[in-house]
Amino acid sequence: MKIGIDIDGTIKDTHRAAVEVYNKEFGKQVHIDDVPDFYLDKPFGLTPQEGRKTWRRLEEKIYTLGLPLPHASEVLNQLVKDGHEVYFITARPGMEKIRRVTKMWLKKHGFPYNGRNLHMNSVNKAKVAKKLGIDLFFEDAKEHLDKLVSGKVPTIIVDACYNRDLHPKLLRITDWRDVYEIVEKVEELNRS
Ligand SMILES: [Mg+2]
Repeated sequence: MKIGIDIDGTIKDTHRAAVEVYNKEFGKQVHIDDVPDFYLDKPFGLTPQEGRKTWRRLEEKIYTLGLPLPHASEVLNQLVKDGHEVYFITARPGMEKIRRVTKMWLKKHGFPYNGRNLHMNSVNKAKVAKKLGIDLFFEDAKEHLDKLVSGKVPTIIVDACYNRDLHPKLLRITDWRDVYEIVEKVEELNRS
């Protein structure tokens, strides 16, 4: 199968990295539990416009820091060993410095990045998924989940505090090790 993998919030705890970087930047001590939303604007007292500018300014740092979600790397490597293809499909902007830190982070944490399977600037992930022939997509963020669902791309939600109320009909994972069983089931469905 061809498996589409979002990066931020799907294989990386970007939310935590972002709160840390914002705290340093603004000299604050906001706790991650006090940031239940996807966007950090409110807890840091920013207008949406200030929030967007701040993210643009700090995103390189946020993408450089931060840890993978537990077992994500190990599971994706095993899926590749089992013969599946993994594609990293992210809406991160495609400019060179962002692409560079993204590749470095994937390599540093041992993800199965092969030099050809990173698709930056994927703003419409349903479109990218269809073009690549993705069989199963893993995603955390509302705007992308909405597009993937309406584009009928089979999608699994990677659980996060900001997505618990979304798409109750979709399967949801809280542990990457649950993916083996899901992949097996989808393969069976596709065969029948
Ligand atoms: Mg994401």
